[in-house]
Amino acid sequence: MPAAFLGHGNPMNALEVNRYTRAWRAFGRAVPRPRAILVVSAHWNINATAVTAMPKPRTIHDFYGFPTSLFEVEYPAPGLPALAEEISDVVKPTWVGADVDSWGIDHGTWSVLVHAFPDASVPVVQLSINADKDADYHLDLGARLAPLRERGILIVASGNVVHNLGGVDRERPEEGFDWAQRFDESAKERMLTNPIEMATLDAHADYRKAVPTPDHFIPALYLAGLAAAAAEPRTEVLVDGYAYGSLSMTAYTLGLSCLPGETAGGGAEMPSDVPPEQTNT
Ligand code: ZN
Repeated sequence: MPAAFLGHGNPMNALEVNRYTRAWRAFGRAVPRPRAILVVSAHWNINATAVTAMPKPRTIHDFYGFPTSLFEVEYPAPGLPALAEEISDVVKPTWVGADVDSWGIDHGTWSVLVHAFPDASVPVVQLSINADKDADYHLDLGARLAPLRERGILIVASGNVVHNLGGVDRERPEEGFDWAQRFDESAKERMLTNPIEMATLDAHADYRKAVPTPDHFIPALYLAGLAAAAAEPRTEVLVDGYAYGSLSMTAYTLGLSCLPGETAGGGAEMPSDVPPEQTNT
């Protein structure tokens, strides 16, 4: 089973059709039907490593200041409690808790899955980001998840390599500041050639601007870990670009050939003038 890191950006992407959402859709169509989708979302950032283990996860609208239509989005995919046990086995000795009643499906997950898997029929399980852990831990945990790819589990990490909400410039809906481009290009070079080096990007001169808080960057470490553990680490750019100066939308696939018509730089349609993402948990 392939895997991916998707740059989700503005939650309004859930309701829009643009070259990013089309790339996510193409990705969903290109992969074999998964037994379940395991999502590492930037928006489940807690002080523990946990997986959702409820049969019917709720759709969580974890933002504010957006149109009612965004709060009305539901993603009624079932959960798969058995996968929680499987995950806790496969990542040993790393400890993973089972969350049966707290979280669900947050917008880091559903804003991309409404495009990639619009009928919501494939079970979805989320893996939290343990905020107490360093980059090496996350990259290693990503690598430990690799056997799940052989068992029909589609692993999708959802965040943004460059994500600085304080630096958002609404006058630049389709541009990236110089520092954002420098950081994203460095990340790209590493992800495509030596993914383990993703864990040392905190030494990059633009890290503090590009990654003022690590929540949206960390999901990329999971794909890097999966790539490092893969027999054929074929990582490719699914789509790339910038939003509001201070976000990069770069998405990567692992183990998937280039998608016709949805490659990096393809298309021109971009998000319209909508409020940028306004919250973090
Ligand atoms: Zn986000």
